[in-house]
Amino acid sequence: MRNVLVSPQSNRSRSVTRTYMTFGFALSVLIACGGGGVEVTNSDTASDVTTTDESFSTSTATTGDITMDGPILGSGPTLDSGPILGSGPIPAPPFAGTIFLDPDIITADDPSAFESIAYDGIALKRMFDRRANAFISLDAHIFQALYDDGLSIELQVNTEFSKTEASTEADRYARLFGQLPTLLRRDVDTSWIHRGVKPWGGGNRNLLVHTGQAEFYFSSGIAEETLIHEACHTSLDANYAAAPGWIAAQQADVNFISTYARDYPTREDIAESFLPYMALRYRREAISDEYATTIENTIPNRIQFFDSIVKDMYPLE
Ligand SMILES: [Zn+2]
Repeated sequence: MRNVLVSPQSNRSRSVTRTYMTFGFALSVLIACGGGGVEVTNSDTASDVTTTDESFSTSTATTGDITMDGPILGSGPTLDSGPILGSGPIPAPPFAGTIFLDPDIITADDPSAFESIAYDGIALKRMFDRRANAFISLDAHIFQALYDDGLSIELQVNTEFSKTEASTEADRYARLFGQLPTLLRRDVDTSWIHRGVKPWGGGNRNLLVHTGQAEFYFSSGIAEETLIHEACHTSLDANYAAAPGWIAAQQADVNFISTYARDYPTREDIAESFLPYMALRYRREAISDEYATTIENTIPNRIQFFDSIVKDMYPLE
């Protein structure tokens, strides 16, 4: 069971998030999130790499790096415009994007399945880099991270980092990945770690990290929540995004938990819905009653679907 925090959970990074979070920024991060948007074909040539995440390519290719603009709007629940089934053709999703729902669903103090990490030298690797928006082949520092549930992840750190810097980054992310439940870490074979202010990503049996972006995620308290989202792309999408049970749940719920899920229902709905589900079932004390009710009322059938497939949530339980 979790070591439940007795101190009020609201005094931590919540206020920081409210300060940092702007709707425009939130949306541009989300839009750029990419998740499973990078698909690899069987060829090694860069021209055969297709980016299916059209929102990512338009938002970054045309506007450059993420910009912060505007006041806080829509990052919390909008109960009055929320899910009222049958009252209109398309109910409004209650959230803009769920990684911003609450920074305390998982925090730095939560347990990690991380066990050990070892440096394994430098090797030529093929890695996706959002700065190039392409797969590149380069020498990478290799680290092997082991977890106490028997899983392992190979961290491939760009040699733009010195060995010492790479070790620091690898240590940080190896532990952070260990906070992901077994279910979400299961298909994570590797992680690509680069510099750069670019959104993190999932898919490709990998977790993609840009350390420049990490500063925002950590200062806002949502690094853990963002990783949950990305790891859903890596470990859940392939099995469930097109599953009949999931499609039926989407149709029965009618609404979506977020506008990001609604706008990309095949690519983002699982990742957007799972974090609120996880909060509801495994971190209920971290979210407000208002949020919990909103989640329950908006995606009851998706919750039921997750209940039927979710297991191996260590170290959350
Ligand atoms: Zn995503």
